[in-house]
Amino acid sequence: MAEFDYDVLVIGAGPGGYVAAIRAAQLGLRTACAESRETLGGTCLNVGCIPSKAMLHASEYFDHAANGSFAKLGIKVTPELDLDAMHGQRKDAVKQLTGGIEFLFKKNKVTWLKGRAAFEDAHTVTVGGEKVTAKNIVIATGSSVTPLPGVEIDNAKGIVVDSTGALELAKVPDHLVVIGGGVIGLELGSVWRRLGAKVTCVEFLDQILPGFDGDVRKEANKIFKKQGIEFKLSTKVTGVAVNGDKATLTVEPAAGGAAETIEADAVLVSIGRRPNVDGLALDKAGLTLNARGQIETDHSFRTAVDGVWAIGDVIPGPMLAHKAEDEGIAVAENIAGLTGIVNHDVIPSVVYTWPEIAGVGLTEEAAKAKGEVKVGKFPMMANSRAKTNHEPDGFVKVIADAKSDRVLGVWIIAVPAGTMIAQAAQAMEFGATSEDIAYTCHAHPTHSEAIKEAAMAVTGKPIHI
Ligand code: FAD
Ligand code: NAD
Repeated sequence: MAEFDYDVLVIGAGPGGYVAAIRAAQLGLRTACAESRETLGGTCLNVGCIPSKAMLHASEYFDHAANGSFAKLGIKVTPELDLDAMHGQRKDAVKQLTGGIEFLFKKNKVTWLKGRAAFEDAHTVTVGGEKVTAKNIVIATGSSVTPLPGVEIDNAKGIVVDSTGALELAKVPDHLVVIGGGVIGLELGSVWRRLGAKVTCVEFLDQILPGFDGDVRKEANKIFKKQGIEFKLSTKVTGVAVNGDKATLTVEPAAGGAAETIEADAVLVSIGRRPNVDGLALDKAGLTLNARGQIETDHSFRTAVDGVWAIGDVIPGPMLAHKAEDEGIAVAENIAGLTGIVNHDVIPSVVYTWPEIAGVGLTEEAAKAKGEVKVGKFPMMANSRAKTNHEPDGFVKVIADAKSDRVLGVWIIAVPAGTMIAQAAQAMEFGATSEDIAYTCHAHPTHSEAIKEAAMAVTGKPIHI
């Protein structure tokens, strides 16, 4: 009889966990995955990436029809919102994709252990009242919403909600206040603004989108303002009171000062996410957390305890599905004795608004702090495809090392920025110089030509500006 029930037991079936489980099984390891949700796919497929993109995609078409963008193309329409049907297509996307993971588990012979897992020791967990042992345990429990002290979230009531509640609002609020000008606030704020809500975004810092390049943050703020989102920067929310079907927010300057109130029909709390570790009994496995409540690992995703590994939102690094997925593949390969590596310096980041906002590598500020750089910028207004499509907003910025010309970072605001950033990530992964990108033939007319032109601008020689 085998010493353990499984070679690998993964806790959590989000993009980190389900990918790790499938790769481990592909490598011939006996694999199980514990998941407490009714469906597989984690935050990303159930209440994150996928449903938010379903609402962003549908509301974008509605907005084009309502705000005159279609009229510019010679298409006259008067849109009528069927919010139930819009929610229906969102739920359908989630159902199909989560069902797809269940199919992949069966196909690859990954056993789904239904229930919450808690450690008994480093090789044993209890799931659904049963003890299960494994030679290797991968913690992929993800993250959940950071609460705002004194603000109670009630998604069922639909007035003070987190991202899950904001995806499911039963009617378009007259006034939505978004607390936090990060990725979730801007994406979901955009959805409801497009569908007719007045949207106010309250951000603690003096600029939206922390972590993004400074130029991008400024330009994005201008674009969202032009679209009608009102911003209260350097402002903190000190309380939210619900009265009937309205909420009253009390806000004051972040640095202190006179308080004021804002009335809202809905309030979205989107001030970040924190790792899921409650109830895991990590102490029984001998594990401790860092100051940010995360599980630390080495580059192979090994924790301090032999046989216990961790990946995804529960460990340090950007909380992104593709980062979790790549770590899932790498951890399984490391467990199987292969060499699994994730290059954390080249993880693209995308905000799926209109236009999209994307970046990979260092911001100009971070690059300059490390040494001398050359920067090339090209506006989308000068890109023939964007101009033809009536999409003038945004730019591409390429940051290169002044001596070696090696590309250190690429930042894009453009309608398809999320798709365009892939070539920048690949170029950086191959150690490209700005000249390599500038001398790569790009199809015409495409938005991607703006990347080539920005790379040409690094040496001061763009053609179309
Ligand atoms: P998760 O996806 O959080 O999965 C962890 C799973 O573990 C969960 O299903 C949970 O139920 C389960 N679990 C937890 N504890 C236990 C336990 N003790 N026992 C059993 N099961 C357990 N990222 C992007 O890259 N692109 C996007 O467009 C994007 N959009 C987003 C939109 C929203 C609204 C949100 C909230 C997030 C978005 N993200 C996006 C972030 C992305 O969802 C996460 O980075 C990603 O899901 C992390 O994957 P994970 O596998 O680490 O964890
Ligand atoms: P975030 O960290 O992106 O933004 C939170 C914002 O809230 C920050 O700007 C912060 O300064 C602000 N803030 C914090 N406390 C505040 C307070 N008390 N009052 C006002 N503002 C306050 O977090 P998020 O938008 O909640 O997203 C969580 C995570 O989910 C992110 O790490 C993100 O990577 C991930 N996510 C990714 C995508 C995507 O890839 N497109 C989409 C959604 C979410």
